[in-house]
Amino acid sequence: MGESFKTHPITGMAVDPIHVGTGGGRLGRVDQSIVRDPVTRVPKIPGSSLAGVYRAYAAMAQKKYPGCAGQGQPDKKGKGGHCGKPDCPICTVFGFARSPGGGFAGLAAFSDAQVLLFPVATREGPVWITSPGAMRLVGAEISEPGDKAVYRSADGQPLNLGWLLLPVKKYPNGQDPQSELKDVEIPPYIRQRLALMSDKLFSHIVNSNLEVRTSVSINPETGAAEEGALFTYEALPRSTVLLWEVISKNPAHFKVGDAAVSAVNDMNGVFEVVEVAHPYLECLGIGGMGTRGMGRLRVLSPKATPQQPTAPKPTGGA
Ligand SMILES: [Zn+2]
Repeated sequence: MGESFKTHPITGMAVDPIHVGTGGGRLGRVDQSIVRDPVTRVPKIPGSSLAGVYRAYAAMAQKKYPGCAGQGQPDKKGKGGHCGKPDCPICTVFGFARSPGGGFAGLAAFSDAQVLLFPVATREGPVWITSPGAMRLVGAEISEPGDKAVYRSADGQPLNLGWLLLPVKKYPNGQDPQSELKDVEIPPYIRQRLALMSDKLFSHIVNSNLEVRTSVSINPETGAAEEGALFTYEALPRSTVLLWEVISKNPAHFKVGDAAVSAVNDMNGVFEVVEVAHPYLECLGIGGMGTRGMGRLRVLSPKATPQQPTAPKPTGGA
């Protein structure tokens, strides 16, 4: 029956600020905070959020399965919801909540999207920072430079963040992230402007450089601003580079009810269903604030395949 799963690493770059909220909870001066890793405190996009948007956009691309797009709850009359059929690419790949034969976990699984490279303003222009922990996401082992220096490709002027001046050292023993990232599609202007700092300093600087925006709640019925409805929210800034993994499971190892999965033939077929969502991530975004010019995420690798459909242009409505 062959292998049981295959891992597809994916990198993406924020085209807009990205806000994936915790669903409430004030953090300091921010009304709507974003999700953070509980250990490192570095913001991330939970795999469950990725799974939800991938499902919605994959269903949008397939067109034939509108009821299979969402959470699968039938309406009050018991109609709609996930079809749960073995020949439905959405229900077999993303799972379903109900059917005569019970639920199904889905053939694709999604890791959290974690920050690989994060942009900061310096006196010499933007620099993308990373850390040993972040580089471990791409399998690279790079030593800690300590909390009072950064590593760069060449010795040079200290890195001046305005409020913090960090001496620059050269990477030890050729551990340069630039070469470790050679198989990752990252724009050359980012690749050439990397700096690596300790995990502790990385978390601190990322958290100090998040976008904090103020917005106003609009009453959907009157179109007017609601009184006292000014709120602040934080977001990962534009040009943050994120990394996540899609795991495709072997359909031959699963049954839907008593039937074999017929919607996809193999693990590549599972990933093909997932991958059609990528152009939509760039047009329609993630995090539910697309109408505020937020959340668009450009997939950098793997490179989009030419047979993918063209995603629709974003519209003004929600
Ligand atoms: Zn379905």
